[in-house]
Amino acid sequence: MAQWFAAKAAAGSALVFFRMGDFFELFHDDAEAASEALGLALTHRGEHQGRPIRMCGVPAHSHEAYLARLIRRGFRVAICEQLETPEEAKARRAPTLRREIVRIVTPGTATEEALLDAARPAWLLALVRGGAAWIDVSTGLFFTQSGAEPAALIARLAPAEILAEEALGIEDAVPSLPPRDAASRLAGALGVASLDGFGTFAEAEVAAAAMAVEYVRAVNNGALPRLSPPVAEGARGVLLLDAATRRSLDILEGPRGASLLAAVDRTLTGPGARELAARLASPLDDLAAIGARHAAVASLHADTPRRAALRAALKGAPDMARALARISLERFSPRDLGAIRDGLQRASALAVALAGAEPALLAGAIAPLSAAPAIAAELARALAAELPARLDDGHVVAVGYDGELDALRRLRDDARGAIAAMQVDLAQAWGVAALKIRHHQQLGYLAEVPAAAGEKLLRGAPAMAVGDLAPIHRQSMANAHRFTCAALANLDRRLSESGEQAAKRERLVIAHLRKMILTEAEPIAEAARELAAIDVLAASAELATEGAWCRPHLTERPDFAIEAGRHPVVEAALRKAKGPGFVPNDCDLSPGRRLCLLTGPNMAGKSTWLRQNALMVILAQAGLFLPATAARIGLVDRLFSRVGAADDLAGGRSTFMVEMTETAAILNLAGPRSLVVLDEVGRGTATWDGLAIATAVLESLHDRIRCRTLFATHFHELTAMADRLPEMRLAAMQVREWRGEVVFQHSVAAGAAEKSWGVHVAKLAGVPTPVLKRAAAVLASLEERAREAADPLTAEMPLFARPAAPAPANPVLEALERMDPDRLSPREAQDALYHLKALA
Ligand code: ADP
Repeated sequence: MAQWFAAKAAAGSALVFFRMGDFFELFHDDAEAASEALGLALTHRGEHQGRPIRMCGVPAHSHEAYLARLIRRGFRVAICEQLETPEEAKARRAPTLRREIVRIVTPGTATEEALLDAARPAWLLALVRGGAAWIDVSTGLFFTQSGAEPAALIARLAPAEILAEEALGIEDAVPSLPPRDAASRLAGALGVASLDGFGTFAEAEVAAAAMAVEYVRAVNNGALPRLSPPVAEGARGVLLLDAATRRSLDILEGPRGASLLAAVDRTLTGPGARELAARLASPLDDLAAIGARHAAVASLHADTPRRAALRAALKGAPDMARALARISLERFSPRDLGAIRDGLQRASALAVALAGAEPALLAGAIAPLSAAPAIAAELARALAAELPARLDDGHVVAVGYDGELDALRRLRDDARGAIAAMQVDLAQAWGVAALKIRHHQQLGYLAEVPAAAGEKLLRGAPAMAVGDLAPIHRQSMANAHRFTCAALANLDRRLSESGEQAAKRERLVIAHLRKMILTEAEPIAEAARELAAIDVLAASAELATEGAWCRPHLTERPDFAIEAGRHPVVEAALRKAKGPGFVPNDCDLSPGRRLCLLTGPNMAGKSTWLRQNALMVILAQAGLFLPATAARIGLVDRLFSRVGAADDLAGGRSTFMVEMTETAAILNLAGPRSLVVLDEVGRGTATWDGLAIATAVLESLHDRIRCRTLFATHFHELTAMADRLPEMRLAAMQVREWRGEVVFQHSVAAGAAEKSWGVHVAKLAGVPTPVLKRAAAVLASLEERAREAADPLTAEMPLFARPAAPAPANPVLEALERMDPDRLSPREAQDALYHLKALA
């Protein structure tokens, strides 16, 4: 227990996997947490300070699967290993085996395939005041940013693990401090004398980067995987998307797996899928860079044979970047060496398929893809065609690669053959036809004879069984006896010696191969990156062949004109449902008509249209084609989308508070190059309040910010603003009534929605008929009253004219009316219930 407590103290917040023989055991609170997370039985053993010691355990041979589950749940796990055999401990008269933490496995530093998602980067994000750094340890990618906004960065990267200075107050982050001498430590970790060669970094970037690197080193017991030189990412150059916008648009994750990424992903490799996810998560804001991607996609779109050749070479290509990380950490399997061999071979196949391509991104990929040809050839010669799962399994190095290894293997095989041949000789010499030579774990090779024959041998061996063939008894069993003889023992020794020597030599050859790979790590990583990029470009071209996808025309002017646009996710869902197809819609926010006010009932397709136009910007600036027949988009610097429920009840803020906070962010941050997509601003409060706020927000967007805006609303009153705001246009979702039923056309037309359809939609949703009838009657009377009161504002908003409704003369209802459940604390809610009960 003392040993365990020492390990626990060193492990900090990580669970301790404490090796005891064939098991990893967990104790105390760790045991409780793990048993709950893994569904393991919690047991007790012994006592500590008068209380039973809780424990649970997992078998050592299958611990990776448990580890994977814990890591996925966000746990960190310290592996505390036995560092000596029981014999060694006995020899030094120690009461317990030496145990030490050899490694801490964490979500953001793991490199094992079982602990990683092949299609997602595993970012470790380090945040300090004024700067950030993020590393994908599994591939070595390394970025920094100064002046980083933590929430936006977290939303963009969806990091597997966050390190943060405590003062930043980031939830779920591992509290960390940048090391002293951050710059020199970072340079040291990257194997350079100074960081100057990599560009200029702000102090906070260096601090964050050093903090991340030191953490990676600490969890790996001092070892550091290969890292690419850090790239300082200025805030400029990427399209800015805040956390709420990302949530609103389901870019990488969505309900039931329906995300933008899932709808457009046609990549064939894990690295390609990761690259596509990265591009969608951070689209560009740079005309030249985006144009280069579009040109490459267009060329591959047009050139079907080239695309097919590229995709044939990509299919099944291994993940070189992740294999490289494991190789650099010396935590690799023979298959990782195979991944480099096969990956380089695929990369040169891609280079061949790209010959003669004109777009810069394709032509420029040829050289890096065919880099490190010497290594590719060497690995092809050095490695066996079929590779085993573990280095100890042998047969990693191909026959014919290393003369000495071949000779040792021959010796081993000769000894093995001689042993097999000896079975015949011994059977003859000992006069036992049924004699069999078998291998035993502890005793080595032995000749096994049936019990009766064994008894005879024990009583006296035949005349021929003399000298080094004389039987030596080793073991008796119920129906057999086991013997050896000097000759057999000799061969056995030769076999195990040559076997050991062969294994040692093989390890040496593998170490040499590892070193060779690591000296060329940069070109290999570069080839891996190009392979991923080509996968994304070819996949985007492939996607564009599936239907009407067009190359967007990007401009510096604040244009925005989409012809026959579609929502890729909704379209895919409708196609799967095999019902009516998606209805394409235009959208025009060009100068002179920058602001579009959309009205229409619920369920008519408003949010779909709003979102699809926001997605056009993401797709276009990520370098993909668009689901439309034509599109002209002026570069967007910031995209704001507030579509869908904005509830943050868990966060303790009411719907309205969330809505206003987000609206405030838009009004403070949006500029003339931004696109703002807003749904129902002001719905979270009383009608007049909401209407007033929506009006003021619209005016501000139109007059002051002058950004492109899509604004959906239930306030029909707002449509009157079109008379005084010159850039405002009205649009409405088309709805028809057919035999008393509402029929959604899903098409957008100019003008305002002519009437409200709330009661119809309520019917569709299954609201009981008496309630519908009553609602229709109230509606009719409200409309009647509104017409009588010649107030134009009220006339346009019958549903909201609450003061005119027949007032319920019921104190309970009145009290209910005054109550806002979103604003009640649990305590207040209970008080309110008592109050209602008293009134009833
Ligand atoms: P609203 O925001 O107006 O309540 P939604 O945008 O959520 O409506 O759309 C409701 C449903 O209508 C969607 O789930 C989708 O099935 C369908 N829909 C929306 N837009 C279209 C379209 N353009 N073509 C076909 N179906 C659509």
